[in-house]
Amino acid sequence: MSFQIDCPNCGIRPVWEFHYGGPARPRPTGDGVNDRQWAEYLYNRPNVAGEATEWWYHRSACKLWFHVRRDTRTNRVFETKRFTAESANG
Ligand SMILES: [Zn+2]
Repeated sequence: MSFQIDCPNCGIRPVWEFHYGGPARPRPTGDGVNDRQWAEYLYNRPNVAGEATEWWYHRSACKLWFHVRRDTRTNRVFETKRFTAESANG
């Protein structure tokens, strides 16, 4: 199913201009992070059927990585936004 994404730099473009970068979620942090926690973060991605926040990359134009909140069942895009320190925690 084709859909469109509103790039924060370029505006609304067809999805084939973008690259999916996986779910947006907090990285393991702190001195006590072990290999198991990193492996869990890198290889065991959630597979949400419904609303999810994801990383997307505008590979055909501005090269921006940003967040897209969409319904994975319908590909309806609710929101796109630039990544900021504040958005890293939520
Ligand atoms: Zn763009």
